[in-house]
Amino acid sequence: MADQSFVTLATNDSYVKGALVLGSSLRNHRTSKRLTILITPHVSDPMRKVLEKIFDEVKLVNVLDSGDAAHLALLKRPELGVTLTKLHCWELTQYSKCVFMDADTMVLSNVDELFEREELSAAPDPGWPDCFNSGVFVYRPSIETFNQLLQLATEKGSFDGGDQGLLNTFFSNWATTDISKHLPFIYNLSSISIYSYLPAFKVFGTDAKVVHFLGRMKPWNYSYDSKTKSVKDTQDPTMAHPEFLNMWWNTFVTNVLPLLQQHGAIKDTATGVKAEEVTEAVSHMSISSPAQSNPPPSPPPMSSEERKERWEQGQADYMGLDSFDNIKKKLDTYLQ
Ligand code: UDP
Ligand code: MN
Repeated sequence: MADQSFVTLATNDSYVKGALVLGSSLRNHRTSKRLTILITPHVSDPMRKVLEKIFDEVKLVNVLDSGDAAHLALLKRPELGVTLTKLHCWELTQYSKCVFMDADTMVLSNVDELFEREELSAAPDPGWPDCFNSGVFVYRPSIETFNQLLQLATEKGSFDGGDQGLLNTFFSNWATTDISKHLPFIYNLSSISIYSYLPAFKVFGTDAKVVHFLGRMKPWNYSYDSKTKSVKDTQDPTMAHPEFLNMWWNTFVTNVLPLLQQHGAIKDTATGVKAEEVTEAVSHMSISSPAQSNPPPSPPPMSSEERKERWEQGQADYMGLDSFDNIKKKLDTYLQ
């Protein structure tokens, strides 16, 4: 349907890789909806060209592109940068209904039925289930709502510093008012839940329709061996359930990599070498473009203080340092 669209967001070339996999997964599962991506000026030109191959609409947004009072006030809250960029999705008023999906999500089946839901429908957050997770949500574009959200951001900020805190404050009756706005968890299955409730994952995991690689380690931060079709587990030898990561990489290598090569979005040094080396190069690639002045670095090692802080902010490194197996090891040392 032309007036309904999936929407995602990428503010840099790393998240574009995620968005391209998400878009490919939606196409592979034959969505009948349009695909829209919001990007910011940091996204390089070759990447924009590739995005246009998969998305119907590539819309450039800029948080500070307007001189109105709300925007000016927000200049004083730089911490809300990416958060506010996500809010731009409410401006897509050419559509009557949209489903926003984080660039670190991927669909495992057709999920067009989500458009039967109303604003604001979302799945519970695994960390605090009375809040919804803002990685997947159904909404109705509206300039009025957009302005109200901006106003709330200006006046109160966000309790978690991100879009999820703000949206949960705005749609504050989500938890109690209308059960049809609670999306089943299988529409936003986060990696953390695999570890935190393994028996449930074993029973219900096969029904998953959307996986969400939330947390610090994103799929594109890993290396992939295309011969064995599996993620090379260099930093994290204890990773317990790499199935979804491997699916992400399989989609990347099959659907996205050829487009990146065609459009010169990866360095030429990658041609003429074995596929395995290409994919490894890609997983660590820095895209050669002057627009990309500060390519996002892979996550640096953390001090234990910093790690504790991240835990407290709900940003545990579930795929890596804080993976189930690592935590279990630690517990075992106490028990012995
Ligand atoms: N995002 C982005 N650039 C960034 C950080 C986030 O484009 O530097 C977008 C992207 O769509 C991402 C979403 O904002 O999926 C939410 O961030 P993220 O997925 O990293 O948060 P998490 O789900 O891990 O809490
Ligand atoms: Mn996410």
